[in-house]
Amino acid sequence: MSWIYWDVSVALKDGMACWPGDPAPRIEQVAFMDQGSVCNVTKLHMSAHTATHMDAPRHFINEGVGIDQMPFDSVIGKARVVEIHDPVAIRRAELEGLDLKAGERILFKTRNSSYAWEQPEFFKDFVYIADEGAQYLVERGVKTVGVDYLSIGGFYHDTVETHVTILGAGIAVIEGLNLSEVEAGEYELICLPLKIAGADGAPARVVLRRPV
Ligand SMILES: [Zn+2]
Repeated sequence: MSWIYWDVSVALKDGMACWPGDPAPRIEQVAFMDQGSVCNVTKLHMSAHTATHMDAPRHFINEGVGIDQMPFDSVIGKARVVEIHDPVAIRRAELEGLDLKAGERILFKTRNSSYAWEQPEFFKDFVYIADEGAQYLVERGVKTVGVDYLSIGGFYHDTVETHVTILGAGIAVIEGLNLSEVEAGEYELICLPLKIAGADGAPARVVLRRPV
């Protein structure tokens, strides 16, 4: 079978925007073949929550499991991209119209995909999941949620509440997607976070695919 792939990951770059207070991403070449080294080597310095990444339960739940313990089933398999029109938050009222099913993997495409990622600095007014929306996602029993900027919770509102609601319910969290090139609909999701022992999160490469 052949497939069309969409890379919905955001490239890690030196100096890119990150959550205020997290270490600024530094991606620095430290050995140069141009200068006589036998190879090129790059050094990485950043938080586990840089660019496209996953949150592990222990990010907001101290006794929760680390990213290396997350089940593959949460991040490989059928997924649905849904478009959110609310320019501020993902709320229950709009979610109710989506016919969400237990066990679904849902990726939210908001105005963030085409707007927030274009801002050179951290964009504080990104569309986030309101805690009342998060509670509805838990009620519906979704398996995985993906959002198209750096956090499921907002910068001004529901930062902690939304994370605790979603991570506390065992829902897998993918943050920092760029869905600007994909339309709403069904895809197969493949998302593999780096296996960092016991970590509260990890960068991930995320692709969507459909059979040709
Ligand atoms: Zn995170």
